[in-house]
Amino acid sequence: MKWIILFCLLVSCATQSNNTQESEALAKEPMAFKVTDLEVQTGKVKFIEIDYPVSKGKVILSCGHGDKKLKYAIHSDGEKIKGFISANYFSSPISLSCYHKETKLINLHITEYPYKKEFLNVDKKRVFLNDKDLARAIKEKPIKKAIYKKSADEFLFNSPFELPLNSFITSYYGNKRVFNKKKESQHLGNDFRAKVGTPIPVSNDGRVVFVGDLFFSGQLVAVDHGLNIFSVYAHLSKIKVNKGDFVKKGDILGLSGATGRVSGPHLHWGVKINGSWIDGFSLVEESKKINNVE
Ligand SMILES: [Zn+2]
Repeated sequence: MKWIILFCLLVSCATQSNNTQESEALAKEPMAFKVTDLEVQTGKVKFIEIDYPVSKGKVILSCGHGDKKLKYAIHSDGEKIKGFISANYFSSPISLSCYHKETKLINLHITEYPYKKEFLNVDKKRVFLNDKDLARAIKEKPIKKAIYKKSADEFLFNSPFELPLNSFITSYYGNKRVFNKKKESQHLGNDFRAKVGTPIPVSNDGRVVFVGDLFFSGQLVAVDHGLNIFSVYAHLSKIKVNKGDFVKKGDILGLSGATGRVSGPHLHWGVKINGSWIDGFSLVEESKKINNVE
């Protein structure tokens, strides 16, 4: 019996020395944590806070596997991780396991939100762009993409998001429109009634990452709130901030208007989280759960 034990010890020593790197990696792994179940509806966002001690700063959660892995940047204060988990509007219902490195932390269930569908018959000109407009829209695609490429590695805010206006919503996020039974379009922002010249405050602290005039959005301001959370304010008549400015919640970004491809003056408010346009109302609701992000 003694010999067997000694033999086992020797073997395990040998194995350990052969795989020093691997065993070190295992030793650094945190203990098993209770896996949190989280349901997020398409186009919405949920705030999570999990007791999980890892070094302070940005933490990446990876959900799913293969090419379609979803990655979420969230914040660690050293004791807990906190952040926003969004679901793309176009996502199919699916359940995914979310990991930080090798540790499974979340069972993410993406479920479908029943957005309204409208069928409209309109003049072709309203559905399809003419060649000149189409060329401009295509040319602007990479410019739009570049706006959301870089985000601060930490939350730039420490209190909940607020709606930019309290006026009537003329078009809610997610409305699906089917034109002439052919072309479908989705409205991936919320439209607030606003007469030309209404001051537009920013929803939360952040850094202005884009000011400019685009074919669809008109005069646009985009603000980075950190960890891949952006808010945008479109169709403005006047912009009052500059790229690079740090803005505090409530600061005036500009005045509302009817620039870009619109049928009348209003504010289009968009929220982009981890690369997906999501319903800003869900960010306002969920961000109330933030106590303090240092
Ligand atoms: Zn809109």
